Amino acid sequence: MDHGSQQALYDFKPQHEFFVGIDSDGCVFNSMEVKHNDCFSVNLVKHFGLASISRQVHQAWDFVNLYSKTRGTNRFKAILLVCDFLREMPLVQKMGVAVPELPYLREWSETETKLGNPALQSAIDSAGGGRLEELSQVMAWSLGVNESVAEIVYNLPPFPGVLETLQRLQGKSDVIVVSATPDEALQREWAEHEIDTYVALIAGQEMGTKTEHLTITTKDRYPENQVLMLGDSPGDLKAAQDVGALFFPVNPGSEDASWQLFLDEAMDKFFNGQYVGAYEDALIDRFQELLPETPPWQ
Ligand SMILES: [Mg+2]
Repeated sequence: MDHGSQQALYDFKPQHEFFVGIDSDGCVFNSMEVKHNDCFSVNLVKHFGLASISRQVHQAWDFVNLYSKTRGTNRFKAILLVCDFLREMPLVQKMGVAVPELPYLREWSETETKLGNPALQSAIDSAGGGRLEELSQVMAWSLGVNESVAEIVYNLPPFPGVLETLQRLQGKSDVIVVSATPDEALQREWAEHEIDTYVALIAGQEMGTKTEHLTITTKDRYPENQVLMLGDSPGDLKAAQDVGALFFPVNPGSEDASWQLFLDEAMDKFFNGQYVGAYEDALIDRFQELLPETPPWQ
């Protein structure tokens, strides 16, 4: 059967009785901070004339994208959430800054499922008037973000502990990359740091969602509690839960300590069958505490 872009997932053959799926951005690579601080926020200020509230833009952007339960959300949903928060901030109100309402983007984001530049371009192609103007401005921002990422984000080695983890998993567990980043960027980043040789498969955006990656590669193929997902966002936790896998959180802001904990005890517990239950629950509770719903300025 032809599975198109997902063929590599269907071709994957278990070699061990254990499986570990690892997210990439913000989990293996410290790419979240630089992308959000130096690319997304900066372009929001630039393309929407928000220079007078730059600090608030960074604060709101960081909360939505790095330090709350929406960490890892799509960029077009993020810009709406950030503008909603900005509009409520006392200083922004006092200064009378016009924070964009983006009604057409909101409507598009609620009906479109493939929230990326190609789908946005299609919407622009069939738009006129205020809708054309607004969506074009959002596109200019999105393209500006991509340009900044290409220009600024390089020389990013894996977090301390990643290489040793991959080495110690060799021969004991199947390991694949489970990510929502485009395939090309993933292949390049993992190869650049010579860690691609430790994984059986690198699954990115074009191979479907993280839940699909895990479902196709692990469903009915491993014993219970012998599939583990390592990730840094609520979306990773949800993908693990969707397929009945265990979850190990790489905590935002203390990633190196998380990898050290995995090396020191969590990995052994996973292989010994002691990970599931109270131990995993405590790690997930701590992870969720780090990602609150209410922003610190409220
Ligand atoms: Mg991530």
